[in-house]
Amino acid sequence: MVFSASQNSDLKKAAEIILAGGIVAVPTETVYGLAANALNPEAVRKIFMAKGRPFIDPLIVHVLDFALLEKIAEPNESARRLYEAFCPGPITFVLNKKPCIPDIVSAGKPTVAVRMPSHKTMRKFMEIAGVPLSAPSANPFGYVSPTTAAHVEAQLGDKIDAIIDGGSCECGVESTIVMLSDESRPMLLRPGPVPRAEIEKVLGKKLIDPKEKNPAHPTAPGMLKTHYSPRAKVVLFGDFCEAEEGAARVFFTRPKNPQNGDFWLSENSDPKEAARNLFGLLRSLDCSYKKIFCQRLPNEGVGEAVNDRLSRAAEK
Ligand code: AMP
Ligand code: MG
Repeated sequence: MVFSASQNSDLKKAAEIILAGGIVAVPTETVYGLAANALNPEAVRKIFMAKGRPFIDPLIVHVLDFALLEKIAEPNESARRLYEAFCPGPITFVLNKKPCIPDIVSAGKPTVAVRMPSHKTMRKFMEIAGVPLSAPSANPFGYVSPTTAAHVEAQLGDKIDAIIDGGSCECGVESTIVMLSDESRPMLLRPGPVPRAEIEKVLGKKLIDPKEKNPAHPTAPGMLKTHYSPRAKVVLFGDFCEAEEGAARVFFTRPKNPQNGDFWLSENSDPKEAARNLFGLLRSLDCSYKKIFCQRLPNEGVGEAVNDRLSRAAEK
């Protein structure tokens, strides 16, 4: 069932599905999420089943505001500062959890990941549903995240109860995740739309990079080496890439003389536009090419997130 974001009656029906223990795909400013009532372990279990997601991967819980965050997590000064600077928006805090969060949500960890999305429809939906929503990206585990309702429908349409169609996602890559449970060692678990440098400025501290993870127990599955991965072979390049028969080349910005099989993420070297287009382009090229060459972006701002997703897509 596909619901329209502009119909309040549709959002109400979708909220009833959530409250009855169902799972609904929702638009957010990052990518589409697959939402369930975070306080209902049986409902959350359905998310893992639909995605084929291993139970060791904890989920992000979405709430409307800081008061609701305090009901499920133990915020600290760092979380307060980052909240003031960036929320609502595409940033997730990992904090010590309160007992109301079931183990299945946090994968048995003492921490929970919390985010306050800015997407208007998502916010209206959360207000109507009135419960915290655990929502990972609405794609089969390990594949490229969805940035339109059509992406969700194509892969999960028959496994979920409903989709709210809120158009294309503005950011196009998943949220920045910052581990704040130990304030003395804030850690960037996943680069995203909120840039590392801006977070460091607000905290007045450098963000620690998580060391190579034990892949059996990832702190964040987004950190698994292979993730966000199309079926096609992805090969990265810097400044130059020779054209190859039957392969696609994806440039950061429009090349001067594009050839057959050339594509680009931005018309005019805009990293935000590139991030917005990244997953949609990879999905469509995945249908017609077995090999995709992708150009790295300058590694700053959201470019760091795009490069992170590209290098995981390239890892096979
Ligand atoms: P996705 O749901 O695909 O956007 O991924 C959500 C990310 O949040 C995953 O990489 C999770 O591992 C991460 N995450 C959720 N909860 C925690 C937690 N308690 N500790 C560390 N990372 C978490
Ligand atoms: Mg995901």
